[in-house]
Amino acid sequence: VETVDRPQWTGAGRTADDRPVTLLANVGSAEDAAAAVRAGAHGSGLFRTEFCFLDAAREPDAEAQRVAYAAVLGEFAGKPVVVRTLDAGADKPLPFLDAGGEPNPALGVRGLRAAFERPQLLDAQLAAIAAAAGDADAEVSVMAPMVATAHEAAWFATRARAAGLRRAGVMVETPAAALCAEELLDAVDFVSIGTNDLAQYTTAADRLCGALAELNDPWQPALLRLVDGLCRAGRELGKPVGICGEAAADPLLAGVFTGMGATSLSMTSAALPAVGAGLAERTAQQWAATAQRARSAPDARTARARAAE
Ligand code: PEP
Ligand code: MG
Repeated sequence: VETVDRPQWTGAGRTADDRPVTLLANVGSAEDAAAAVRAGAHGSGLFRTEFCFLDAAREPDAEAQRVAYAAVLGEFAGKPVVVRTLDAGADKPLPFLDAGGEPNPALGVRGLRAAFERPQLLDAQLAAIAAAAGDADAEVSVMAPMVATAHEAAWFATRARAAGLRRAGVMVETPAAALCAEELLDAVDFVSIGTNDLAQYTTAADRLCGALAELNDPWQPALLRLVDGLCRAGRELGKPVGICGEAAADPLLAGVFTGMGATSLSMTSAALPAVGAGLAERTAQQWAATAQRARSAPDARTARARAAE
């Protein structure tokens, strides 16, 4: 019988030289949360709260929100959970937050932008998250989607803290946010890179358009360089920079992000075993060299090939 000498996933992310890597799950329901814990996730790096209310015709009241959030937090006792405030619009329309016939919904009033128009909606959500967090054992942070400026990030963090939530961060999904990484990090406690949207906005290629899949490839050097710059800024400022886009579910790319210095990787829980096993194939230093080879490649295909070497 041939034995395969491949490191196995044991529930904790580690490089070959035993450097820990925090592996988290993306969730949208209590069922997802339970599956994440079963799969060995250290916690959740992205709880998509809009998934709780996709069918709601009206804004859910405080109690309905508290119950929905508590159901997810309850699965993560003793573990960190990053709760993302409503990311409505574009590919995730919510009937009660409809911006109404925008010609370019992906560039319209989506994510945190809806809260600038109706701040009471954000405040009500933050209060419900704080109430759910108060009843749960999970270590709760909040973050805002679709942020373009440090001013927006500071605005969100102020409101989150006013609601009694101690750790506030933002997603980096726009090139503007990535290019102002230092100012952004200054305004919040952490950032999390949403590679799905950051890819689509970096290459100006709709993430839902199959014909543009090549431009949306997260191996595009432009995206890798933005991620690298964010990780560097995080190191300089001593603040966490996580990844929560689907790109983190690609074991080789997860290694590249680790090599760049990402402090956590959050993904669909089904990907955790493969990512865990993949990370253990190289040392931290080898992943840093891998990242350097990928980020300096001229195109996505070459970046992937160089990383695989
Ligand atoms: C992302 O944009 O990468 C992300 C994680 O958010 P969503 O996929 O929910 O837009
Ligand atoms: Mg997004």
